[in-house]
Amino acid sequence: MIRLTRVGKTYPDGTVAVHELDLEVGRGELVCLVGPSGCGKSTTLKMINRLIEPSSGTIEIDGRDVTTSDPVTLRRGIGYVIQQVGLFPHQRIVTNVMTVPLLYGESKAVARERAESLMSLVGLDPATYADRYPHQLSGGQRQRVGVARALAADPPVLLMDEPFGAVDPVVRVRLQEEFLRLQQDLDKTVVLVTHDIDEAVKMGDRVAVFADGGRLAQYATPAELLAR
Ligand code: ADP
Ligand code: ADP
Repeated sequence: MIRLTRVGKTYPDGTVAVHELDLEVGRGELVCLVGPSGCGKSTTLKMINRLIEPSSGTIEIDGRDVTTSDPVTLRRGIGYVIQQVGLFPHQRIVTNVMTVPLLYGESKAVARERAESLMSLVGLDPATYADRYPHQLSGGQRQRVGVARALAADPPVLLMDEPFGAVDPVVRVRLQEEFLRLQQDLDKTVVLVTHDIDEAVKMGDRVAVFADGGRLAQYATPAELLAR
């Protein structure tokens, strides 16, 4: 589904963020990128949705080279969730989630219905939360809205950068477990960045362990990693 071949990224200041990276993510697979801060995980994720252009190598999604794809079409097929989900502060929760379907030309009624069903899917009862504003939600709840919004265009691919990183440990574990259950039903192809090896081992079908300098140290299933 996603294939990176000898991908490299050197920033203009000379920083080598990613070096000769080979990585394959199968359809429906959840792959965690894990490693210390600064080892190139976020850069890798952002190259997949072309927020950053690679300096070398190729990235394909479904056999298509992302660097020659139209970015708008490309991103329509990719949901993106970041640590500090940026919700529109002056819009109600349901409106925040509806934005994407509306953008793609759905009618208001259909977009609202879709937003409410997505809210239910991520554990936010629309009867209670649809008309609230982002500041009236807890951090964990805002992250759920971020996931709902990322799913709104029903993208086959979901990229998540420390999606559970900004919430307290108890909420974090709950969100991890909820997301795993969700993922089993949705069958999305997911790449999840985390600095937390426990999270990676718990959530990943496979785990890509990055080392400093943007090198891939290991790429294995959790069971294989734990056996080493
Ligand atoms: P991680 O997500 O693993 O913390 P990043 O991909 O954010 O790592 O960063 C990898 C390396 O690239 C780090 O050394 C970081 O300082 C550097 N880096 C990230 N973004 C930029 C940038 N825009 N310009 C220069 N260097 C950058
Ligand atoms: P979580 O376990 O998801 O982090 P919290 O314990 O932070 O939840 O919040 C508990 C409840 O308080 C939630 O139902 C949330 O909607 C509500 N809440 C949190 N902050 C506010 C606020 N500023 N205004 C209204 N309700 C709030």
